[in-house]
Amino acid sequence: MKYSIVIDEFMRVYGAKKPLKIYERSVIRRGGCIFFLIREDIEKKLVIICPFKYTLPERFIPEEEGIFKFRDKNLRYIVCKCDGENALALRRMFTFTRPRPLGLTPTIGLGDRIGIATPGHIRAIKGFGLLPVLAQQSIREIQRTGRTLREVLDGVSWAVFQEGYRMGFAADADHLKREEDVEDAFQAGFTMYTVDPSDYVDSEADNYPVSVLRERFNGLPWSEMGIGIERFLKVYLKKRLTLYLPDGKIRELRFSEENLMRAAVKFSNAILFIVRVYRRLKSLFGRRRFDFEVSIDETESPISALEHFFIVSELRRFGVRFHGLAPRFAGRFEKAIDYIGDLKEFEENFLMHVLISKALGPYKISIHSGSDKFSIYPIVSRLAPDMVHLKTSGTSYLESLRVIARHEPNLFREIIKYSLKCFESDRRSYFTSADPKSMPNPDDIPDRELERAFLENSSGRQILHITFGSILTARSEDGKWLFRERIKRVLLDNEEEFYETIAAHIRRHIEGLFGQK
Ligand code: ZN
Repeated sequence: MKYSIVIDEFMRVYGAKKPLKIYERSVIRRGGCIFFLIREDIEKKLVIICPFKYTLPERFIPEEEGIFKFRDKNLRYIVCKCDGENALALRRMFTFTRPRPLGLTPTIGLGDRIGIATPGHIRAIKGFGLLPVLAQQSIREIQRTGRTLREVLDGVSWAVFQEGYRMGFAADADHLKREEDVEDAFQAGFTMYTVDPSDYVDSEADNYPVSVLRERFNGLPWSEMGIGIERFLKVYLKKRLTLYLPDGKIRELRFSEENLMRAAVKFSNAILFIVRVYRRLKSLFGRRRFDFEVSIDETESPISALEHFFIVSELRRFGVRFHGLAPRFAGRFEKAIDYIGDLKEFEENFLMHVLISKALGPYKISIHSGSDKFSIYPIVSRLAPDMVHLKTSGTSYLESLRVIARHEPNLFREIIKYSLKCFESDRRSYFTSADPKSMPNPDDIPDRELERAFLENSSGRQILHITFGSILTARSEDGKWLFRERIKRVLLDNEEEFYETIAAHIRRHIEGLFGQK
């Protein structure tokens, strides 16, 4: 380590009262100064060492400053909190800590709910030639974790700096369901926008009798759709899309009047919502690029080939440029456990989406709730290794609980009991088949069996996964965090093990999808 003598001298002078750790990968020289990250007890801090008379190019706000002598020279040290203000200065100074658009590169979304897992995510993707979406937060998760979009991004910028990671990453404002949320995400600096129009999908459209269907169809907001009924029918009834299947067979997609009306009634309002969000983003970003994903993964039934064809044709008609589409696939994608369903059916379904995306795009097929779906990765990797985005979010929270189970078994037991209490109300916004009654009493399980009993069991994984928000925001009667700080402390006390546990788990996903390094 080149600057180690200067840093050693600083450490001696600084005389920390609490145990101090230096993040070696963070050390970087810029404009005559040395920047690096330290941790004092459980608080991370940025240290800047610079010549005595020196004005820093960015406005870092010091918490503590001092002078020390090094080889006859006076050096100044500045210790800064890793807070939001300093994160702004950090991003201005070091461009690699800023998110950026990633376009059509294969990507993996790695949401971090605890807010300290990102170094593990960065270690997982190293050497694989894919890029990560490190800051990824849905509005739903904001409500559940009590963290703002800015805080999520700030945490990621510090983590990227800590690991010295320079390859680039994106920040995804996930599952945007209201136009006004776009503004917040933009202000926070997000570069990727996942629009979720599910509130505007008419899921009854498949069941309307033809007379009702026609009435609804005629009643669509044609003027906002910018086309007349006659013209719409004419354009779509003529449309063809030929798909060339790998076995040499050909499949042609075309609309009958009835299935066109069903697709239009089901999705037209959703498409208009997507268009409004897109236009708002365009006006905010101007000529700068951003990544745009359309998620229709939370609809009631799987998206058919014809529906996919219709949605994308409409988006193209409106000039919406998007990088990814997340369809609802056949089968069940429950959180934190493997795919439930017929693999053959998934394969046919996935192949068809890929073929349409190649013919009309290309754009990436995005797989939401993508963590732990080990049985489908070989299929995805065979059919579309280079055009996929795998979105995961809660899985690193679960993996971090392993570290808790190993080092603080009693805290882990408390978490389980609390999660079981909250499960019935927390489960409402999720598809889950978890059965809390199948869980043993954690007091009956010996310490070294805890991981196996709860984290390698599908009900246990889902219950713990779904209740993350309740755990992370629970407070005792005197207003103190019930678990949040204790979880953080155990993880930071075992920091390397924590990062490696997460990295190992995420790496299994990446190897399944993108092959070995
Ligand atoms: Zn989703």
